[in-house]
Amino acid sequence: YGKVNGRNSKLFYTPKMNKMYNSLLLLEGEVNRALNKNEFVLHYQPKINVITGDIIGFEALIRWFHKEKGYIPPSEFIPLAEETGLIIQLGEWVITEACRQHVRWVEKGLKPFNIAVNVSAIELQRSDFAEKVKTIVYETGMNPEYLEIEITENSVMQNTEDCIRTMNQLRLMGISLSIDDFGTGYSSLGYLRKFPINHLKIDQSFIKNSLIESSNAEIIKAMIQIAHTFGLKVVAEGVEEPHILKFIEEQSCDYYQGYYFSKPVPPDEIEALIVSDSEIRKL
Ligand code: C2E
Ligand code: MG
Ligand code: MG
Ligand code: MG
Repeated sequence: YGKVNGRNSKLFYTPKMNKMYNSLLLLEGEVNRALNKNEFVLHYQPKINVITGDIIGFEALIRWFHKEKGYIPPSEFIPLAEETGLIIQLGEWVITEACRQHVRWVEKGLKPFNIAVNVSAIELQRSDFAEKVKTIVYETGMNPEYLEIEITENSVMQNTEDCIRTMNQLRLMGISLSIDDFGTGYSSLGYLRKFPINHLKIDQSFIKNSLIESSNAEIIKAMIQIAHTFGLKVVAEGVEEPHILKFIEEQSCDYYQGYYFSKPVPPDEIEALIVSDSEIRKL
């Protein structure tokens, strides 16, 4: 999408680029339409306690089932929504929907869990972001103690001072914060001390190859140790196999997410998961 960035600058487009640009414009219009037509839904992926195997919360992940094109993954439309600024409306929808869902679950009598939403750098960097979240929390009746916001490492490295102020405002409301895709950014581990964060999510690229490349295993070990030194809980992303779970357990990793336990699923399947989980516990 690099070329679209220079929308206002003079650029020569090749026919191929032109075609790409046009299809981006088309998709932009469609994101807007999909927002108005409620074509987006949130799926939820459980976060699991490594030691006990309990569900501790869920991550909300946006899904777009396009009427003609079928499923379009977030990796395709999120960057575009960021580019066009539509991410502001889309992000507001995501937070609102996650809060509403949480309130619905609590009203049904389900035990309340943490619910995490992903937020782009562009959203986080708006000076009114914390205020907006506050309004959404108030209007939906969500208990902010159960809300978690996932921010990628790189997004806090841009405009760091402003981001820290916003993060502090969110923490004061009772919201918890995670650094997502940790290890893929350009930052050093030392900056962790500066940020008012609760969790660190180790990127799945390390986890997947942790037992193939021994250097990855060493990196994971170091990340977990340093995170614990700073009082942060660690989440391993992308755990697909039992031997990987065993490995991260040996490294004292706190929580995990991954296909091994469950893929992201629609809300009704999450309800079934919670209910069966608590019934097993009663036996
Ligand atoms: P992420 O926040 O790091 O989310 C984790 C991604 O890994 C999700 O992909 C999830 O489905 C996938 N995943 C989880 N466990 C496994 C596993 O065991 N194996 C494999 N191969 N994959 C696994 P998804 O849903 O396609 O989302 C991709 C990215 O799109 C997210 O990465 C996040 O950066 C972004 N995204 C998703 N929803 C939203 C949203 O509502 N707002 C924003 N701003 N970004 C979002
Ligand atoms: Mg995430
Ligand atoms: Mg991630
Ligand atoms: Mg990611």
